[in-house]
Amino acid sequence: MNHKFQEVDLMKRTLTSVLVAGALFSLAGAPAVAAVTDKDIENDAKSTGDVLSWGLGTQGQRYSPLAKINTKNVKDLVPVWSFSFGGEKQRGQESQPVIHNGRMFVTGSYSRLFALDAKTGKKLWKYEHRLPDGIMPCCDVVNRGAALYDNLVIFATLDAQLVALDQGSGKVVWKEKIDEYSAGYSATAAPIIAKGLVLTGVSGGEFGVIGRVEALDAKTGKMVWVRPTVEGHMGMKDGKENGVSGTTNATWPGDLWKTGGAATWLGGTYDPETGLAYFGTGNPAPWNSALRPGDNLYSCSTVAIDVATGKIVWHFQGTPNDGWDYDGVNEFVTFKSKDGKHLGGKADRNGFFYVLDAKSGKFQKGFPFVKKITWATGLDENGRPKFDPANRPGDPAKSADGKKGTSVFSAPSFLGGKNQMPMAYSPDTGYFYVPANEWGMEIWNEPVTYKKGAAYLGAGFTIKTLDSKEIGGDYIGAMRAIDPATGKIVWEVKNNAPLWGGVMTTKGGLVFWGTPEGYLKAADAKTGKEVWSFQTGSGVVAPPISWEQDGEQYIGVASGWGGAVPLWGGDVAKKVNYLNQGGSMWVFKLHKSGK
Ligand code: CA
Ligand code: CA
Repeated sequence: MNHKFQEVDLMKRTLTSVLVAGALFSLAGAPAVAAVTDKDIENDAKSTGDVLSWGLGTQGQRYSPLAKINTKNVKDLVPVWSFSFGGEKQRGQESQPVIHNGRMFVTGSYSRLFALDAKTGKKLWKYEHRLPDGIMPCCDVVNRGAALYDNLVIFATLDAQLVALDQGSGKVVWKEKIDEYSAGYSATAAPIIAKGLVLTGVSGGEFGVIGRVEALDAKTGKMVWVRPTVEGHMGMKDGKENGVSGTTNATWPGDLWKTGGAATWLGGTYDPETGLAYFGTGNPAPWNSALRPGDNLYSCSTVAIDVATGKIVWHFQGTPNDGWDYDGVNEFVTFKSKDGKHLGGKADRNGFFYVLDAKSGKFQKGFPFVKKITWATGLDENGRPKFDPANRPGDPAKSADGKKGTSVFSAPSFLGGKNQMPMAYSPDTGYFYVPANEWGMEIWNEPVTYKKGAAYLGAGFTIKTLDSKEIGGDYIGAMRAIDPATGKIVWEVKNNAPLWGGVMTTKGGLVFWGTPEGYLKAADAKTGKEVWSFQTGSGVVAPPISWEQDGEQYIGVASGWGGAVPLWGGDVAKKVNYLNQGGSMWVFKLHKSGK
């Protein structure tokens, strides 16, 4: 596995002309942009004329209250425009666009950002970040989207920076380095806004970075607080020490916490009702769990951080002492249960779906959302896994030559029951719509020592398909409607390739999602009956959005196959190596204007 993308060198472009073009456009009279306020952000899930945040609202429900496109007329949904991201190399496009004042802001592979006329697809400006040699993204040169605040559009780059651009001109307003890319840090998550702060995580769990959540003043980029997600590290607020996360060495042996991973690489969600930001955390480093007995907090967890104080209020760990790379980064989506409780749901990479109290983090319920889980036999009353010790990869120190521990076959694979593709929740049906994958892996441990900027795994692996008899058919992906009250899979739509795009559901009774085979699909949210599909020309690994403009409802999604599966997918990558790369934005509306 070559962790460095040599292509980056080939892909580097000059930035000069971009900034000049942006300035000219501004002089030519770009319309003034109404500022995005905290109130707008908090109201985003309800406002239909814009999409201001990753998750269609900071809670991340990915529910559009629009019903102009519905189960009855969705057959008349047709493309309005398509925009190519261009460039010589097409890579994974995992971005969720945002919409404001008739403009779409969508990020592309290689840290690019495009401003487009949302109605016509006309390019307004483009920003291409100048990437240095030697960036180390683990899992393709992706980006998952931008945040909007005031007159700014803010996104994270592969060399671990945050860049804020003027929405009208594309001019850089501020730029802040999160950390050293040469130490393995990168950034791919869509930032979110909470109370005037821009919140972001870091990537680099495969290089022994220190996971953290950073909060910057969204207008200026000035650091407000930092909260490390590895136990033992000191937090900061307003330039002063703000308390250690947890207790040093309580759950980590020796010095391993100093390079402990727990990367917050998928970003977070924020619930204005609780005032908490919820960030998922990745694997503890290194992968070889024999080296770090203990729970290794706060890896493979959800941490709830009080946005006002920058302190962890609660945490819930799905996979203590992870030995399978079950990054618990998956989004925590808050919702109201039918009996009025304020809860949150999370479909963890480890194969279990968790329902927790949104305010206290108290475990309510947990159940598998995939059909085969080998590493645990179930959950106890607190949601802690009942490990199957025989399914933990063995300690290489106990092998005959000290070089390779016992290999085991584990499910899910380390790419997870669910990965980066965000699920959706419908308050109409009360179901979560979860893009799940059924797969497994051979995994074993090897000796490893930390070296700055080098892969820090101490493991070998090959992803495999599962026996079709064990999972009830020949498929990997499955879009599943899950009732959080019962833990039942209400319906599913199987997919040959692993699903890697996100989901959206609507008041129109629809669920939209993309497939690596290139389709954007819609199904009836109640029954799972497929009611519409469109072939976008490349694999869809991004979440769809919807908004309203001049009385019509639009649906949009980025298309472009890539991400972690082709790079890390072992036998599954070989199985789907026919899939086409690409890079474009697609937008749809009703052919008959909703009549
Ligand atoms: Ca909105
Ligand atoms: Ca990982």
